[in-house]
Amino acid sequence: MNHSILCPPTQRRLATIFTIGLLALSPVANAQPRPGAPEANPLAMRVVADPKFRSAVAAFDRDFERYVAELIKLTEIPSPPFGEWARAQAYLAMLKDTGLENVEQDAEGNVMGLWRGKSSGVVPLLAVAAHLDTVFPEGTDVKVKRSGTRLMAPGIGDDTRGLTTILALVRAMRDAKVETAGDILFVGNVGEEGLGDLHGSRFLLTKGAWKDRIKRFITIDGGNLDIVTNSGLGSLRYKVTFKGPGGHSWGAFGTVSPAFAMGDAMARLGQLKVPKSPKVSYNVGVVSGGTSVNSIPFEVAMEVDMRAVDPAALKDIDAKFKKIVADAVDAENAARSTANGKIIVDLKLIGERPSGTLSPDSPVLRQVAATLGVFDKVPAWETNSTDANIPISLGIPAFSIGRNSGTKSGRNHSLDEWVDVEKVQAVKDFEITAALILSVAELP
Ligand SMILES: [Zn+2]
Repeated sequence: MNHSILCPPTQRRLATIFTIGLLALSPVANAQPRPGAPEANPLAMRVVADPKFRSAVAAFDRDFERYVAELIKLTEIPSPPFGEWARAQAYLAMLKDTGLENVEQDAEGNVMGLWRGKSSGVVPLLAVAAHLDTVFPEGTDVKVKRSGTRLMAPGIGDDTRGLTTILALVRAMRDAKVETAGDILFVGNVGEEGLGDLHGSRFLLTKGAWKDRIKRFITIDGGNLDIVTNSGLGSLRYKVTFKGPGGHSWGAFGTVSPAFAMGDAMARLGQLKVPKSPKVSYNVGVVSGGTSVNSIPFEVAMEVDMRAVDPAALKDIDAKFKKIVADAVDAENAARSTANGKIIVDLKLIGERPSGTLSPDSPVLRQVAATLGVFDKVPAWETNSTDANIPISLGIPAFSIGRNSGTKSGRNHSLDEWVDVEKVQAVKDFEITAALILSVAELP
């Protein structure tokens, strides 16, 4: 994978675009795209060549130490799933500080502020989000350790760097007096990770005050700017509890056992053949239950995760899974004595993330590809579970972009998570992120 952002031809091309942009405001006819490069795109070129855009990038360069300081400060405020309150309050204050309008926290805990565009209310409103929560539980050591330009701490990349990119972007736009056509709602949302189950973005897009105005959605949540997540990976998660009468392992031998029912269900699930493309997956992630080795358990449970890109395939495996559970319970009730009670099952939905895909041929993603093309980048379209799942499933064009180039972060979701804040590369990465967001904000 090529991680260099501005190779010499691009620098030349940007210089050309910049100069032409300053001289004529219609650089398209003169630009010379590389062979194989996406068609020269007037909007992307206009955005990148705009002197105000250039001065926003320069403003970020000047603001860089503050950006790093904010990254450290926010990372060191623990933000476990369902425990984002303290970080949300800090982020709310930082958003206020940027000068955005209508800075507020909604009933779900999301914090946000509005950037006012020139054609407010005419051009579709774009929401740009990053998530406040991390995967790390309460009590995790989140102190940032520094080694040169490398900063290490749980959550520093995913997604604290996304949050601070938003702050720095707004300040740079304000500083450079950037004008956008449409309004942009900047959001720090709760509930992206794990059992958070996207509840923050779900509220934002289905219940919050802005739900009917958000027409496009970008989440800055990924470790590589070459990758654009345009497919929301759908998932269903259940906690399945099998219950029975229990009894002594010797004295009550022959009585139905929830352990055998659950074991049977697991074995049947494991035999299930699912499509490889588009991919479908299933997993038993947690098993629990029982009280002692010489007792027939009265309760055992398993947590199951099933995923699919295609909504119909997710529905299909869901139906098959439910039948497997019911069949395993019936089989156990038929195999042993139910004199003291039958096996019953409690199927509790503990996670539901909708799936869907935004086509690379859609106007928004064609723009994304064209803007990346200005930086000699070709997007790799990817499937993943992000806050973009919710808007995609609602038919709102949405996608996820990276926080930095691919070599500048790693070990997400681990205790030795790290990001590199080497300034030259960070400024280049910022420029690409800003160009992507601003070009989407200009789309009619
Ligand atoms: Zn994330």
